[in-house]
Amino acid sequence: MSKTIAINAGSSSLKFQLFIMPEETVIAKGLIERIGLPVANVTIEYGDDEKFKLEKPIKNHEEAVEILLEQLTALGIIKNFDEITGVGHRVVAGGETFKDSARMDTEEDIQKVEDLAEFAPLHNKPEAVGIRAFKKILPDITSVAVFDTSFHTTMPEKAYLYSVPYEYYEKYKGRRYGAHGTSHRYVADRCAKLMGKPIEELKIITCHLGNGASITAVNGGKSVDTSMGFTPLGGLTMGSRSGDIDASLVGFLMNKTGINDINDFVDILNNKSGLLGLSGVSSDMRDVQNAAKQGNHRAQVAYEIFIDRVQKYIAQYIAVMNGVDAIVFTAGIGENSVVVRHDVIEGITFFGCEIDDERNNVRHEALISSDDSKIAVYNIPTNEELMIARDVERLKK
Ligand code: AMP
Repeated sequence: MSKTIAINAGSSSLKFQLFIMPEETVIAKGLIERIGLPVANVTIEYGDDEKFKLEKPIKNHEEAVEILLEQLTALGIIKNFDEITGVGHRVVAGGETFKDSARMDTEEDIQKVEDLAEFAPLHNKPEAVGIRAFKKILPDITSVAVFDTSFHTTMPEKAYLYSVPYEYYEKYKGRRYGAHGTSHRYVADRCAKLMGKPIEELKIITCHLGNGASITAVNGGKSVDTSMGFTPLGGLTMGSRSGDIDASLVGFLMNKTGINDINDFVDILNNKSGLLGLSGVSSDMRDVQNAAKQGNHRAQVAYEIFIDRVQKYIAQYIAVMNGVDAIVFTAGIGENSVVVRHDVIEGITFFGCEIDDERNNVRHEALISSDDSKIAVYNIPTNEELMIARDVERLKK
């Protein structure tokens, strides 16, 4: 019985889930936050709803890994470190280098992950730090990096190239990479299973609607187009990200506002735009919906824009695949907001889809379209951690 840990490392945090594989049973999960700050918080959930909390200074990711493993042992979740035979790390950018998840056997492998930091400065560096930290403490276990972009490396040139001078792609690799690939891959697989058909025969549109949001056209099990772009800033209106905008608006607004540094403006597009910037209320969909209900006009418009962009991408991807068998909703908003799912589908019934309001009143995995609907619509909670643990199994030594 092997235990595999799935890791999602941020610059000052480390999220984990511990699985028994291949049974796919979660035996513990948790989070270490505020690494490198005066006091860090450790939270571990395990057993029958048991919760362990600890506050203490944690210098860096290596110390965080040490403390995590010590606590897992102290709480009796593992008897000793040897029980953990694999670790899978979520990595945001895999560029054109990583077309699949990959074993991180050597320092050169990890360096390749770090070298891709120019495509995701806030992510790949801390992720490489997380990989190294585990390697140092558990040098002999299978270590695998699972990239958000790998699933999208099957996109054809016409989907991944921007209409800018071709040499920018050739020289600098400026192109669409997409993101959330692990989630799109997971829910597309689940959808095919629920439909009882081989994924190779299906055209599926997967809508990952969370704080970050993206939509993917999955044709025959392969991503053929996705809404996020060169970075996760592109595509849909998100919690605090603008999604697609006309690039010349950037220059115009920089002149008007006196913001001189393009990085400062991109920061506004990443952190002060989307639902937050539009509504002025919050980046959280629940707050926006509540404010809209109370008559807040900006919140109402923010909500309408969110729904509008989701509908437009679904329509685009029906065109891209010249058809669609199923539409899947997932992630925080997609899985939980009955209203969002209703409103999205209600506005595109021309395509032959029809929501069943009773079936739609769920937060778990379910078919939510009516029997008459020409397109099957599903709610499928995502599980990126499980996908990471499965990739560790698939690639283990
Ligand atoms: P995620 O990034 O996948 O964790 O999703 C976070 C987003 O899901 C936030 O915008 C939340 O407001 C949203 N969310 C969670 N539960 C609900 C709900 N019941 N209704 C609407 N939005 C929700």
